[in-house]
Amino acid sequence: MKYHHDPDIDILTAYSLTKIDILTGVRCGNCPHIPMIRVSASWSCPKCRYSSKTAHIKAIHEYFLLLNNHLTNSELRNFLHLNSRNTAYKMLKSLQYETQGGTKSVNYSKPKR
Ligand SMILES: [Zn+2]
Repeated sequence: MKYHHDPDIDILTAYSLTKIDILTGVRCGNCPHIPMIRVSASWSCPKCRYSSKTAHIKAIHEYFLLLNNHLTNSELRNFLHLNSRNTAYKMLKSLQYETQGGTKSVNYSKPKR
């Protein structure tokens, strides 16, 4: 019996693990920590105490770049580890993405830039 090892499978596995581990949550702009937590209308890093009001914008760009061309309110909440539907709504609204769908399931589209 000849032992055959296929390295492609390991790469794919590693890649999907990386995707899940790294790409959810807001990344700190000052240290490598992820996720930042939402504290009184801004993002706070529990590690270095860095705080930012706009850290989610980069996270949303990463979402559009790497995961999907559109985003719903609940997908955003999962991705940013947010509990508040209203907070997610305000973020999406302030970023002025094109929207599709009715009031119950609005899809926010990736900017065409
Ligand atoms: Zn930090």
